[in-house]
Amino acid sequence: MGRLEGRTALVTGGSRGIGAATVLRLAREGADVAINYANNKDAAASVATIVVALGRKAEIYQADVADKDACTQMCDAALADFSGIDILVNNAGIGSAAINRPSVVDATDEQWQLLIGANLYGPINMCRLLVPQMRKAPRSDVVVISSISAQMLGPGFGVYSVSKAAVEAMAHTLAREEKQHGMRVNIIAPGLVDTDMGRKIVAATQNGADIRSRDTEAPFGFVCTPDDIAATVAHLCTDDGRYITNQRITISGD
Ligand code: NAP
Repeated sequence: MGRLEGRTALVTGGSRGIGAATVLRLAREGADVAINYANNKDAAASVATIVVALGRKAEIYQADVADKDACTQMCDAALADFSGIDILVNNAGIGSAAINRPSVVDATDEQWQLLIGANLYGPINMCRLLVPQMRKAPRSDVVVISSISAQMLGPGFGVYSVSKAAVEAMAHTLAREEKQHGMRVNIIAPGLVDTDMGRKIVAATQNGADIRSRDTEAPFGFVCTPDDIAATVAHLCTDDGRYITNQRITISGD
């Protein structure tokens, strides 16, 4: 019997990268999974096909997490499709390379709105919609995928760093507020991870370099993989993590 048998997760940004690895890991642990995506329906459907092949239930839902109405429609549909959701992984995000790493002063209103929308309002929207029904479960979990950038505060990463620092403040507060309902709330702060986002960051900051060029200088001789992050999400949500809440776990090899 899997460690997450009988539980249902909703993973935002589950079509690619860390989100897709998380969906598959939670399913391998026995969870059914609602998979959110923004644009890549085919990628989300491929992830769902693997989940079903593992013997678990999966459904896919298009929604821009920055859009509260879209999140409402997604959550209504997911709660109708599954008997309830007791694990929420706020993973969907947009990186600084997507807006060409402007300085704090040079970033446009649109660039601030894009990253604050996806990286901060996304988790806020999802928590506001799902946490009230998650309280009914004897145990529930919220995991927020943040970034080491929330504390590194490097030049050109300001818009992203602000969005991640703010979402961490939300998560720490939520952990204190919802503990009485059996909810564990934790933050994972990865360093560089080998995903589309990670590859874009390396290319943008190192003259088009391939992420593989970072392996030799990475802490253990390889850049962190999405599976490394997914393994910790699973640990937090299983019985093994039942006494862990309000923590920020850095996964960077440092
Ligand atoms: P990725 O490879 O770029 O994948 C992003 C995922 O998020 C995709 O599934 C995408 O859906 C989805 N998404 C993006 N914007 C969305 C929106 N507005 N609404 C709904 N879904 C949206 O990114 P990743 O590297 O896996 O990153 C996942 C999380 O880890 C992010 O929060 C990121 O900030 C964080 N992180 C990443 C790294 C890294 O080096 N990769 C480091 C630290 C933290 P579509 O496929 O439909 O576009």
